[in-house]
This record gives sequence, C-alpha cells and structure tokens, in this order.
Amino acid sequence: MTIKKLLITGGAGFIGSSVIRHIINNTNHSVVNVDKLTYAGNLESLTSIENNPKYAFEQVDICNAAEIKRVFNQYQPDIVMHLAAESHVDRSIDGPGEFIQTNIVGTYVLLEGARDYWSSLEEDKKEGFRFHHVSTDEVYGDLEGTDDLFTEQTPYAPSSPYSAAKASSDHLVRAWQRTFKLPTLITNCSNNYGPYQFPEKLIPLIILNALEGKDLPIYGNGKQIRDWLYVDDHARALLHVALTGKVSETYNIGGHNELQNIDVVKTVCSILDKLVPSKLDGIDRYEQLITYVGDRAGHDVRYAIDATKIANELNWTPDETFATGIKKTIEWYLNNMTWCKNVQDGSYQRERLGNL
Ligand code: NAD
Repeated sequence: MTIKKLLITGGAGFIGSSVIRHIINNTNHSVVNVDKLTYAGNLESLTSIENNPKYAFEQVDICNAAEIKRVFNQYQPDIVMHLAAESHVDRSIDGPGEFIQTNIVGTYVLLEGARDYWSSLEEDKKEGFRFHHVSTDEVYGDLEGTDDLFTEQTPYAPSSPYSAAKASSDHLVRAWQRTFKLPTLITNCSNNYGPYQFPEKLIPLIILNALEGKDLPIYGNGKQIRDWLYVDDHARALLHVALTGKVSETYNIGGHNELQNIDVVKTVCSILDKLVPSKLDGIDRYEQLITYVGDRAGHDVRYAIDATKIANELNWTPDETFATGIKKTIEWYLNNMTWCKNVQDGSYQRERLGNL
C-alpha cells in the first residue's frame, strides 16, 4: 500500500487521538492533526507520539477558511479524516451555538477548503483523494421496536441539537459529493468508550466519581440502550474505511454490544469492587452510590447499529467485546490518574496556553 498523508481534524479529542496513535504506531502513513484545542482537546493524549517525525500539529479552528487553506497547501494531504466537532449532548442542550458553528459551519469551511485544494490536484492524486466524514448513529434518532437496527438506509430523525448539527454536516458532505464530485465517505458509529475519554462522559464519570465516593448519577430510569464500541476498534475501522471504502458510500460502525445504561454502570461498579475494594465509610459496594436524576430533555431510548455492511464489504469487525473492553478501560483509568487529575483540575489547558 502506498504511504498516505492524512489531515485529521479533532485529533486531540477522544477518538481522534486514538486514530492518530494507531496510525503513527502501526503504519507508515503520516498525520497532520488540525485541532482548535477546545476544552475537549488534550495534547496529553498524544504525548506518546508527539515527537514522531510522521506527526505534525496545527492549532487551527476549522471555521477559519484562510488557515484551512494554508494547511491544505502546506501539507498536501491525500486523505482528510474529519472528526472535529462539539460532541457532548448535554452541552448542546445548555448552549447549541458552538454546535451549529463547528459542526455545521466548520464542516462547510473544511469541505470548501478540501474542494479548492482537490480541484487543483494533478489527475492521479485527484483520483486518490478522499474526504472521510466521521459521524454518529445519533443522526438516526430513536429506535421504536426492540429488534430494530439502524442500517445505512434508516431515515435521519435527530433529536438533540448535537445530533441535528451532525445530521446537517452529513447532508453537506453528501451534497459536496453529489454536486461537486468531491470523493467523500461517511461513517456513522455507535457510542465509544475507552482510554483518554473526557471525564464528563458516562463511563469515565462513573469510574472517577466512584473512586472519590461521589454520587453516580443515572438519567431517568437508566433503561436507555446504547451499542458500545471500544475506541481502538473504531480507530481501526476509520483508517480501514478511509483507505479501502468505496467513494460516496456510508458505513455504519458498531460493537454489537447493546446495553442499558444502568447495566453499564453496575458492570463498572462490580469491576471496581474487585480491583479497588471500597474504603469509603458505609459503602461496601460502589453500586450503593447510584443516584437517579431527572431525565435528559429529548433523551433517545434506544440506539442499535446494524454493522453488516462494513463486515461484508470491508471485512471489518470489532476485536473487543464489552467484557474485555470495559476491563481494559477501567485498568487504564486506574493506571493514568495523572491524566485524569490534569483534566479535572484544568492543568491540561494551562499547559496548552503555555504552548501558544
Ligand atoms: P471530542 O469532543 O473528544 O473531541 C473533539 C475534538 O475536536 C477536540 O479535540 C476539540 O478540540 C476539537 N474541535 C472542536 N471544535 C473545533 C474546531 N472548531 N476546530 C478544530 N477543532 C475543533 O469528540 P470525540 O468523542 O472524539 O468525537 C470525535 C468525532 O466522532 C465527532 O465528530 C463525533 O461526532 C464523532 N462520534 C463520536 C462518538 C462518541 O461516542 N464519542 C460516537 C460516534 C461518532
């Protein structure tokens, strides 16, 4: 396989950093990471590869057209992998503005930057160019029947400002493919979990709250069902799609691990009980810290992915089951408390400001 240059947006985030570590550690491809470093961007997730000559970092906002143009011209990428986004549903309910800006306007600016650069390429490089847009299963909305699955043909019905903004960006990508023939691919993935996830998301929040003896908040009745995928499996899938997927196609990516939120939380608690038995006053088992709170507005009840297409056409399946992945994840958090502490006390951002 020829060596590719990838321009990855949002590479300092949870999934983007996993993709970059995977590419730098396991392939000869090179990466330029384009990230604004919002609260969710953390360069400490990339310290293991930051000095590798195949890696470069550009602190750039994808909404900044002039800077995006400069980055395309300077790095001459073969593949764009677009992950930069505002990604937290609760934040999108508290303040949708940034979601519209980054997820919709930012995707538009990046598409235009890519189109301008791609149009200027020589024929063979133009032919091989790919714009891979990374999206979510939340664009499909809520599943009604217990056996229903999201396929690539499921109509879009987003419920939150986050998923509506992601759905809009998917539509823009399809339009740039259809109208301008930009060679695009889209993937829609289920809930990710694993190392380096920002502690506001469910699994790291539960691990860290339990260790500190804080409440473990569960929205509503906790019966919402999500399909969980280990982040490094997603990272492998993304590179595989970018390199071998068919132009203009969409691929759903999932873990075949449908679980109710309450069962995820109880599983985390029972693994913690074994690995770090509670020394908290009056708490023998961490699950005693579970507290039910009011449900999230517009909360979808069930998401579940049919990942048959990517398995059959691209021969990709996940390596981890939820049982193996969650154990690895908890062990990673227990062994990386400094990373967690630096996020919790904000020092990961101070280091970033010092670098400016
Ligand atoms: P994240 O919030 O951890 O990371 C997002 C990254 O994008 C951060 O590094 C942030 O600094 C950067 N960013 C934000 N706004 C930017 C801007 N205007 N310009 C440049 N960079 C900007 O998100 P994540 O969980 O890693 O998700 C990555 C992508 O995958 C998103 O597009 C998300 O919609 C999608 N996705 C996530 C999941 C999941 O479970 N986390 C599942 C399916 C799809």
